[in-house]
Amino acid sequence: MDDGRPDPVRPGIGLTGFVQNEPEPKPADNRRPVSGRTGASPFGAAGQLDGGVRAVLESMVPVLAAGKFALLTGAGLSTDSGIPDYRGPNAVPRQPLTFQEFVGSEKLRRRYWARNHLGWSAMRQAAPNAGHRAVAAMESAGHLTGIVTQNVDRLHEHAGARNVVDLHGRFDKVVCLQCREVYSRAFIAVMLAELNPRFLDDVAASGGAEAGPDADADLDHERLIGAFRVAGCPLCGGMLKPDFVFFGENVPKERVEQAYEMVDSAESLLVAGSSLTVMSGLRFVRKAAKDGKSVIIINRGATRGDAMARVKLEAGASECLGYLLDRLGVGLAPGPNHRVQ
Ligand SMILES: [Zn+2]
Repeated sequence: MDDGRPDPVRPGIGLTGFVQNEPEPKPADNRRPVSGRTGASPFGAAGQLDGGVRAVLESMVPVLAAGKFALLTGAGLSTDSGIPDYRGPNAVPRQPLTFQEFVGSEKLRRRYWARNHLGWSAMRQAAPNAGHRAVAAMESAGHLTGIVTQNVDRLHEHAGARNVVDLHGRFDKVVCLQCREVYSRAFIAVMLAELNPRFLDDVAASGGAEAGPDADADLDHERLIGAFRVAGCPLCGGMLKPDFVFFGENVPKERVEQAYEMVDSAESLLVAGSSLTVMSGLRFVRKAAKDGKSVIIINRGATRGDAMARVKLEAGASECLGYLLDRLGVGLAPGPNHRVQ
């Protein structure tokens, strides 16, 4: 949530790894790519795609143009905004904390919050990229039944997309596991800053930390982590957790149903930037394929849905989405950083 207040955690302190100030295209560029400049499209560097990639993309156009399609996106779309991925060709191997570990260990919980206190503000400053803008323009032009994203970064919404299911939740919300009250992450950040007034300075003095996936940060300084004080629920004192789905946790049922509706009302399903490793996303591919709908996958690397795909392309999601938008036709695209709550 963009609450308009100044960031209580000083932006980017000691953090690296995020694109924070992506140049915004001029308003006129939001409607139609300017021809004659290679890569000048605000929706993607379509001019830089090689002939083989273009040929495969061309084979997708008639399928996607035949009717509305549902879009499923994953971390591969946000890597161009500088947000690290758990998987993918350049991912650093890491073991995400499971829900059971989080609730079962005070020590792991403290470590998690200390790192998240750094990572969330970096994610908050990440900007939508050409792929997010292309998706918003596709939606605006009436091509989509909806967007299902596995990303918690809210960049689809920040690019102007409206009908988005944040399948795995949101990095900018915090939920109490006892009374279920939901808070803005910015509000909890104020509490954490009061509880840990020297923390950010100490991290910076110790050499900083690099931003990780899911608003994590690579802080391994045991003394700083051990001294971190975790906030409890302001209402009931219960355990707080970022409001996104941890490994080992289920996606809420109503969210799954909403996503199924988008897939069921579509003629085809386009997957962009997901390896479909977790069942939470793979099930939509299975459903679409079972119903005889065309599944199209664009992802760097193999996915668990490849055998069900009518077309599979190993390429970057952002530039390919830009190319597809150009070919499908664009309506009035919202501004690149138009924030929708
Ligand atoms: Zn509570």
